[in-house]
Amino acid sequence: MENFIYHNPTKLIFGKGQIEKLSGEIQPYGSRILIVYGGGSIKKNGIYDRVLEELEKINAEVFELSGVEPNPRVSTVREGVRICREQKIEFILAVGGGSTIDCTKAIAVGAVTDADMWDVVTKKEKPAGALPFGTILTLAATGSEMNSGSVITNWETNEKHGWGSPYTYPKFSILDPVHTFSVPHDQTIYGLVDMMSHVLEHYFHHEENTPIQDRWCEGILLTLIDVGPKLLADPENYAYRSTAMLGGTLALNNMLNLGYRGDWATHNLEHAVSAVHDIPHGGGLAILFPNWMKHVLDESNVDRFKQLAVRVFDVDTRGKSDKVVALEGIDCLREFWNELGAPSRLADYNIDKSTVEEMAEKTVTANSTFGNYRSLTKKDSLEIFEASL
Ligand code: NAP
Ligand code: FE
Repeated sequence: MENFIYHNPTKLIFGKGQIEKLSGEIQPYGSRILIVYGGGSIKKNGIYDRVLEELEKINAEVFELSGVEPNPRVSTVREGVRICREQKIEFILAVGGGSTIDCTKAIAVGAVTDADMWDVVTKKEKPAGALPFGTILTLAATGSEMNSGSVITNWETNEKHGWGSPYTYPKFSILDPVHTFSVPHDQTIYGLVDMMSHVLEHYFHHEENTPIQDRWCEGILLTLIDVGPKLLADPENYAYRSTAMLGGTLALNNMLNLGYRGDWATHNLEHAVSAVHDIPHGGGLAILFPNWMKHVLDESNVDRFKQLAVRVFDVDTRGKSDKVVALEGIDCLREFWNELGAPSRLADYNIDKSTVEEMAEKTVTANSTFGNYRSLTKKDSLEIFEASL
C-alpha cells in the first residue's frame, strides 16, 4: 500500500435520541443559522420540530432553505449562497439525505467566495474556505455525512459532477437510526445499493498488500447482504437501520481505501445517466455496476473478481476456470440487487438507445478517460450503456 495520511475531522454522533446534542454542538459557531432541507419529509416525521426546539434553546435566529432536490441543482445552491450573504449566516445545518448535505457543502463554500459555484464544481475555480456546517442525516446511503465530497447537477447544461475540498467536511453529523425509519422502501433499496457500490468502487484497485482493507470491504458487503433483505421486511427495526446507517458512513469516509485509490468509473457513468435523465443515483448504480464489471473483467485482472466471488458470494470454485468463478460472482451481485427490488436495466427508467450517445459524451466532459482500475474511454461508455439498455 502507498504512504498515506488519514485525517477526518467530522465528529460523528451516533444513536437514539442524539439530536439532543444539537444545540450544544452548534452554539460555539454563532446564532444565525440556516437550515437546509429537501421536499418536506422532515416535517412529516417530526425531525423538523425537534430541530427547532433545539435551536430555541440557544436563542438562534433561524433561516431556511427548503426544496433541495434529489440530485441537487446548482440553482438551489446559488439561492442558498444568496441567503447566507444577505442574512450573514454563521452556521448551516443540513437536515436530510445526501442531496441536502451535498447542496449544503456547496452553499458553505459559495458563501465565502466571489466565484460562481458551478465554476468551483467544475474545478475552474478553487474553494477559498467555507462557512461551518453540520448535518442531521435522515437517509443511509451516500456517506456525505462524513466525507468532503459533493455532487451537484446543472440543468442548464445537463451535467452532474462530483467535487470536494478540505473545507467541506461537516463539523459534526448526528446519526440517529430512528430518523431513517420513515425512509420509503425504494429509497432504502437505493441507499443499500449506493453504499455497496462505494465499497465496490474501493475494492477494485491494483495496489498490493491491502489485506486489512480488503477484509473491511468484504465484511461490510457481507453484512449488508445479510441485513438488507431483513431491513426491507422490517423497516422500523432499530438494529437493522443502525447497521445500514453505520455501513453507509464507513463505506465512504475514506477509511476503506487507506493507502490506495479505488476505481470510480461506475459513479462517473451513473452521473452521466442522471445528468440526462434525473434518475435516483442508487437505481442507476444497480443497473450499471455489474455491467461495468463484465466489461472490464479479463485475464489480467481476474484475481480480484474471483476473490470477491469466493469471499463475498461463496461461489464454489471446483472444476471451474477463474473467469467462470468471477462471472458467477458478478451474477450473484446482480441477483442480490434484483432480489432487493433494484432496477437492472435502463429500460426500467424508460431510457432507450436514443440518449446513449449523449450520456457517453458526458462521461468524458471532465477528462477524456476515466476509471482507475481500467482506464475507460467514450467507446467503453457506449458499450456499457448499450449492454445496460
Ligand atoms: P436524497 O436525494 O438525499 O433523498 C432521496 C429522497 O429520500 C428524497 O425524496 C427525500 O425526501 C427522501 N428522504 C430522505 N430521508 C427521508 C426520511 N427519513 N423519511 C422519508 N423520506 C426521506 O438521497 P441520497 O441517496 O442520500 O442522495 C443522493 C445524492 O447524493 C445524489 O445526488 C448522489 O449523486 C449523491 N451522492 C453523494 C455522495 C457523496 O459522497 N457526497 C456519494 C454518493 C452519492 P425529502 O427531500 O422530502 O427529504
Ligand atoms: Fe454514490
